[in-house]
Amino acid sequence: MSFRARVLVTGAGGFIGHHLCRYLVARGYWVRGADWKAPGFEPSRAHAFELLDLRRLDACLQAARGVEEVYNLAANMGGIGFIESAKAEISRDNVLINTHMLEAARIHGVERFLFTSSACVYPGYRQDSPDVTPLAEAEAYPADAEDGYGWEKLFSERLCRHYREDFGLETRVVRFHNIFGPLGTFEGGREKSPAAFCRKIALAGPGDEIEVWGDGKQTRSYCYVDDCVEGLHRLMRSEWTEPLNLGQDRLVSIDELVDLVARIAGKAVKKRYDTTRPQGVRGRNSDNTQLRRQLGWVPQVSLERGLEITYRWIEGRLRAAGRIGNGA
Ligand code: NAD
Repeated sequence: MSFRARVLVTGAGGFIGHHLCRYLVARGYWVRGADWKAPGFEPSRAHAFELLDLRRLDACLQAARGVEEVYNLAANMGGIGFIESAKAEISRDNVLINTHMLEAARIHGVERFLFTSSACVYPGYRQDSPDVTPLAEAEAYPADAEDGYGWEKLFSERLCRHYREDFGLETRVVRFHNIFGPLGTFEGGREKSPAAFCRKIALAGPGDEIEVWGDGKQTRSYCYVDDCVEGLHRLMRSEWTEPLNLGQDRLVSIDELVDLVARIAGKAVKKRYDTTRPQGVRGRNSDNTQLRRQLGWVPQVSLERGLEITYRWIEGRLRAAGRIGNGA
């Protein structure tokens, strides 16, 4: 059988990496997945899967052997509660992973290297109001990134540019804006807001209150994972080497997000606001002008449709674990 190319996906045991392996295998790539844990909910679809600690250069060299392209998704990360409470651990691990993966790619003569950055690189001073202006790529500077996680992403974006300019490694950089969908973490402290609300509402009985971090007025945009992996593949195939937003540009408040999930669940929920908990920036949205221009494409799946699929999946997991009664 002939393959389009041999690729490595790091972070293949994680949420987006797992979806990406399935997407690339279906499109005719030979895929090696690498992670230090296997996917949590179903076996990897990659042709080969290796358990490796990618903070180590020798592990990165093993992972990147014989491949033409690297999608580098491995990172120590989680929801806002986690990234605000583990800055040293996150910065140390991610700078090691990204530096060693780039170096391994250079040593092996990899042709293309895609790095997954984040909207967390954008400066706090542009995100202090709920009706925020969508963030365009150039507005990451003057820099005031999210402390820890965001600064590491910004540095690794630059490291990609240096490797491209100095060593001729073709790098691509994507900035995700809140990716969600099934087969992602939904409990344990590393989950993001859509998965957390799906879980809380699925477990809620009649009249129960849902805890919301902050006052519910903070705003975000959310992008479904199928669009995310399609965008990753399109960017890898494109000639655009500057950082590119990948997200939806429909702004919703956390209150609206909770109401959407409650409607899907068919439940009336009351909200209890905890303003002592971390809530991140006040508002954040993606400016998709460059995305549309460079890829001739923007995410397609509506928030309602994506949340419906995600809610049904999380509810199904909780029901199968005996944590939801048949009446709920
Ligand atoms: P995830 O946590 O589900 O996946 C990351 C994977 O990296 C995990 O499986 C983890 O085990 C693996 N990993 C961590 N340290 C490792 C190590 N030392 N060696 C090997 N593997 C290691 O996260 P995700 O949501 O799939 O995110 C993928 C990428 O996208 C990350 O780089 C993340 O920073 C970035 N990102 C995600 C979002 C989002 O909304 N999900 C937003 C912005 C950026």
